[in-house]
Amino acid sequence: MNVKNYIDGCWREGDLKTVPVINPANGEQIAMIPLSTQDEVDEAALAAKRAQKQWALVPAPKRADYLYEIGYKLKEKKEYLAELLTKEMGKVIEEARGEVQEAIDMAFYMAGEGRRLFGETVPSELANKFAMSVRTPVGVAGLITPWNFPIAIASWKAFPALVSGNTVVWKPSNESPLMAYEFGKIFEEVGLPPGVVNIVFGAGPTVGTAIVEHPDISIISFTGSNATGSKVAELGGRLLKKVSLELGGKNAVIVMDDANLDLAVEGILWSAFGTAGQRCTACSRVIVHKAVKEEIVDRLLKAMDQLTIGDGLDPKTKVGPVVNKAALEKINHYVQIGKQEGATLVRGGNILADPPYDKGFYFEPTLFTDVRPDMTIAQEEIFGPIISLIEVSSLDEAIEVNNNVKFGLSSAIFSQDVNTIFKAQHLLDTGIVYINAGTTGAEIHLPFGGTKGTGNGHRDSGQAALDVYTEWKSIYVDYSGKLQRAQIDT
Ligand code: NAD
Repeated sequence: MNVKNYIDGCWREGDLKTVPVINPANGEQIAMIPLSTQDEVDEAALAAKRAQKQWALVPAPKRADYLYEIGYKLKEKKEYLAELLTKEMGKVIEEARGEVQEAIDMAFYMAGEGRRLFGETVPSELANKFAMSVRTPVGVAGLITPWNFPIAIASWKAFPALVSGNTVVWKPSNESPLMAYEFGKIFEEVGLPPGVVNIVFGAGPTVGTAIVEHPDISIISFTGSNATGSKVAELGGRLLKKVSLELGGKNAVIVMDDANLDLAVEGILWSAFGTAGQRCTACSRVIVHKAVKEEIVDRLLKAMDQLTIGDGLDPKTKVGPVVNKAALEKINHYVQIGKQEGATLVRGGNILADPPYDKGFYFEPTLFTDVRPDMTIAQEEIFGPIISLIEVSSLDEAIEVNNNVKFGLSSAIFSQDVNTIFKAQHLLDTGIVYINAGTTGAEIHLPFGGTKGTGNGHRDSGQAALDVYTEWKSIYVDYSGKLQRAQIDT
């Protein structure tokens, strides 16, 4: 597959360097993508700016019609897309299908918003005067997306941007660019006007920076790591741009002494090892009450024995590969730090280097116990199949441990006591809280995002996403026939 940039409604064949896309399950090259430059970003931004003037004039319900068509196309191609998604970044096929479904749901949900882009009418303080506020598009939206949810996160961003009248310049991750390529084909097939969505492939420091800096791109919506996010925030802030950041997590499952342990183990397993621990909402800490600690460890070890590791396309596989060699090395590095700092490695901890795993990038599902809350493996985002188990003596201590990290994306608590549950949901300082479920699995009509270092207060998904891609305009209509003055003129 020879991937091209999609700019102004055309597939551009430039004289650009290319890099391979590698299937992490077996090391095979599955595509080549271009390494674009500032020039391609300039062309894309110009096309998007030109198109935005017309696109903003299309009534929102008509813009929404394109999203319905995109949703139907995604549905038609669901199985093909899911397989390609598994091949490009490794998640197991069942999860890949779920991710494509999320993009389908988002298309239809945001299409519905086209008829619901509500503003407000409010009473004026003056007679014969009418006051209202409406949403207006920000302009050209620069979307920069990560590799771990290449189609869902793109849909969380592109669909609200489009339905509210923005046009898009999108840079997908080099690690999983094929969903963007397929998205481009769908945009073309549904006849989206040229320039409304432009896709530029390439390296983050080149293409990503060019997007953030570009004077014609007014809003940046970024999802990725904290390290990159703070660069984007710094540059975007200096240029006084609207910047939406969705960053990392250090999510925990709390297991209280009255928890249903079968449920808790299932929740931990799915959220810690799904996508090989590479979800922003992955459970990477288990905070367990001392009364059930031994039992939870025993049950987790038994359950981990049942996990089949392998190529995500094999329906028996429960844990797929991690995304690339650098990820393997980073995970391994954290495991060594965990051991050095005194945590007990009770299961896993190794790169799988023998056949049938030797061609791909596989890490054993790993469990550390005796983890102190201040240890590096309990504080930093590892992004791999590693659980750090921390013992506590009370709910208050569990909540404190949960909150005492720089991130605030997702948390979960297993308990059967109503007081415990209500206290926890109130005090857990994360954007998402699960009761008697693992830390992952968001629904698209609710806001998605986190507190503290996980972002800067914006949200993807739900109606909250529209706040990212719209500005409020206040409109006053005075039909009194005379110049009236408000009480305070500003
Ligand atoms: P990353 O920060 O390495 O890359 C994200 C995107 O930024 C990529 O497209 C990359 O090419 C681009 N980029 C790199 N350098 C850039 C620069 N200087 N300027 C502009 N763009 C640049 O992140 P990743 O490894 O792709 O994704 C994993 C991270 O994303 C994890 O930290 C994970 O928690 C986070 N994530 C967060 C959410 C959320 O909603 N909070 C969802 C998914 C992933």
